[in-house]
Amino acid sequence: MQLYFQDCKVPVENLLGEVGKGHIIAFNILNIGRLKLCAAALGGAKRAATISIQYAKTREQFKTPIANFGAIKNKIAEMAIRMWTAESALYRTTKWIDDKEVGLAAAGKAFNEAVLGAAEEYAIECAILKVAGSEMLDFVVDEGVQIHGGNGFSDEYIISKAYRDSRINRIYEGTNEINRLLTVDMVLKRAMKGRLDIMAPALAVSKELMSIPEFGNDGDSPFAKEVKAVRNFKKAILMTAGAAVQKLMTKLENEQELLMHIADMTIDAFVAESALLRAWKLADQRGEAAVAFELDIMRTNLYDAADRINKSGKDAINAFAEGDEQRMMLLGLKRFTKVDAFNSKEARRRIADKLINDNKYPL
Ligand SMILES: Cc1cc2nc3c(=O)[nH]c(=O)nc-3n(C[C@H](O)[C@H](O)[C@H](O)COP(=O)(O)OP(=O)(O)OC[C@H]3O[C@@H](n4cnc5c(N)ncnc54)[C@H](O)[C@@H]3O)c2cc1C
Repeated sequence: MQLYFQDCKVPVENLLGEVGKGHIIAFNILNIGRLKLCAAALGGAKRAATISIQYAKTREQFKTPIANFGAIKNKIAEMAIRMWTAESALYRTTKWIDDKEVGLAAAGKAFNEAVLGAAEEYAIECAILKVAGSEMLDFVVDEGVQIHGGNGFSDEYIISKAYRDSRINRIYEGTNEINRLLTVDMVLKRAMKGRLDIMAPALAVSKELMSIPEFGNDGDSPFAKEVKAVRNFKKAILMTAGAAVQKLMTKLENEQELLMHIADMTIDAFVAESALLRAWKLADQRGEAAVAFELDIMRTNLYDAADRINKSGKDAINAFAEGDEQRMMLLGLKRFTKVDAFNSKEARRRIADKLINDNKYPL
């Protein structure tokens, strides 16, 4: 049942907060809501993945469990990749918010002000998590239904309920379209207010475009190639968004398709970087051999994210640039989304084999 309130009068004694300032509380609560939605989506996705893995091991076709088929392994692995990388972005943001909250409380803010202030600081990341989490869950349950075949369509199998329940997550707490728009809008507003410097790095990237690309040594860190790839993803965003802002100015807000592409690039870059930092930390703690599963996930995602960022960037650039400017930016985009050849099929098989062997996706 739905309730609709039209021109509804609220008695004075029921008023919460101040007249005309309710939206500030509401918007800040949305930030935490978006972060929590990602966490809830992960919980649902992990259960859906485990149910699907267990089903794939028992369902036989052509006298073999369907879990032995490469097509099914590919699905199981992709579920894991999307869950683990979204979770990495969630953990990263949650720690930032926790630290900020402690800092604000130490600076004398009341508890509720510290909580809301900390969430506001990371409002952009919360919007990203909402989109990444809800779309990850939709992917996982959709592929879960597919692994179940015809049974996935039947009420008798729990995965059909997961499929239905997942769908609302892309709609509430701000639809994913609104959260994508917000992601870019909040970055630009913070840049205009001097809270965030994006123009200097964007200028540095446009200068770099004119120079000869750097080759050779990627540095000494154990994940130097991956670090460089993520740094380049950010350059691709700065180049595209910087040029779009310069060219379209205030007209940019009417070009929602363009904003969606820039948001998609941002989401992919943030999630890929979060996964890299988490995998790196785990490798430092346990040694690379012990975290081979996590490293496969991180690297497969990075390899795929490069192509996704390239496609979004290409569509964005082609929407507003022409002639020499367009050619130069497309070349820059190619440079910034170039990654080494990588056997993602074998990596996905290794990821799936571990999960099939464990009989579950780890909680
Ligand atoms: C099960 C359920 C629980 C809910 N719980 C709550 C709750 O607890 N609290 C609460 O406040 N609300 C709640 N909602 C409401 C929910 O937040 C809204 O449904 C949601 O914000 C979308 O608004 P709408 O339905 O009016 O869709 P519309 O705003 O009509 O959107 C329709 C489509 O148009 C797109 N669109 C709309 N505006 C723009 C724009 N400016 N630019 C580009 N695209 C746009 C949307 O992205 C969407 O794809 C709930 C809804 C459901 C179904």
